Amino acid sequence: MNYNKKTVYDVDVKGRKVLLRCDFNVPQNKETGEITSDKRIVAALPTIRYLLDQGAAVIACSHLGKPKGEWKEKLSLAPVAKRLSELLGREVIFARDVIGEDAKAKASALKGGEIMLLENLRFHIEEEKNDPAFARELASMAELYVSDAFGTVHRAHASTAGVAAFLPAVSGLLVARELDVMGKALDDPRRPFVAVLGGAKVSDKIGVINNLLEKADTIIIGGGMAYTFIKAQGGEIGKSLLEADKTDYALEMIEKAKSKGVKLLLPTDTIAAKEFSADAEPVTVDSMKIPADMMGMDIGPETSKAFCAAVKGAGTIVWNGPMGVFEFPAFANGTKAMARALAESGAVTIIGGGDSAAAAEQLGFADKITHISTGGGASLEFLEGRELPGVACLLDQ
Ligand code: AMP
Repeated sequence: MNYNKKTVYDVDVKGRKVLLRCDFNVPQNKETGEITSDKRIVAALPTIRYLLDQGAAVIACSHLGKPKGEWKEKLSLAPVAKRLSELLGREVIFARDVIGEDAKAKASALKGGEIMLLENLRFHIEEEKNDPAFARELASMAELYVSDAFGTVHRAHASTAGVAAFLPAVSGLLVARELDVMGKALDDPRRPFVAVLGGAKVSDKIGVINNLLEKADTIIIGGGMAYTFIKAQGGEIGKSLLEADKTDYALEMIEKAKSKGVKLLLPTDTIAAKEFSADAEPVTVDSMKIPADMMGMDIGPETSKAFCAAVKGAGTIVWNGPMGVFEFPAFANGTKAMARALAESGAVTIIGGGDSAAAAEQLGFADKITHISTGGGASLEFLEGRELPGVACLLDQ
């Protein structure tokens, strides 16, 4: 996969109509529709400001939620247009449709230095189907395509990949940074390169483990997924999370690590509990001997120490997935320690979105991390080494 893509800095945008794919899929209050976090809108501002300052006419577009081709008022992007306008301190023209008369008339009248936002792309079923006719209609309003929604680059949708068949396509600043930092980590990492993987499911991270075994010096496995590895090695894991059909795979990965000379670290002690609840009593047990009526909820203190020591002195650290059920304070210590270890490591640190990003933010370490990816699913596929359709379609440098 070539990550070396042209960006908005490499093209002349002055006076040109630019179709800008943003990730305005913001969380909303289910009843009132109020935007509960505008982080994603704020994240899009640098590219938008740059384009407007350069005199581009910006036609922004995004999806919101999962309307599945139905016109749902609750999933209208109108509140996003309003919030974006407040943040930019200038008018954001809102189109009441996507490729309809209103959008086309407003796009055609749009001048350099002005911005408009189209209605929710997923009101059209053709968006997720990557329908070429729909993509052509979208593209027909613009002269250049800018991809700045990293959260959806792993999807081959009309607005994330299809439009690039009809327009020259470059990355926005957000996507450029993702490609730069994560691409470098995979292709030419400062060593030692340590990957920290956790979270609930092995099956979600199979591709990542397999790919990182080719690149990393050390792989640390914690969280619920570790118990499948422990079970595979003959451990007793009680009621802990288990993907029974993945134990062979776990053994295969342990063997692969040995043959590649990659250190693979698993928990040696575990904080277990009798039930999955915030006020369950935490008990420290041997990871290979978890009592039959208990489940592993977090890595134990000895493991935490060993994992943090393995991270110390690293040149590059990639982290995806919490070390335990960090949503319950009694079982958040392992995740907290890992977040602190990353923050204090002095390494290039990358957190792959989703729950580990939330954990680092909640625990107050976010500003000490080199890069927190804006796309959970996309960053996982990136780490798997898969070709991302929304990146592959951009012009090479
Ligand atoms: P993922 O989306 O795969 O990264 O998983 C994140 C989720 O894994 C979080 O909600 C954690 O609570 C959960 N998790 C982490 N460790 C465990 C564990 N030992 N048992 C159950 N769930 C866990």
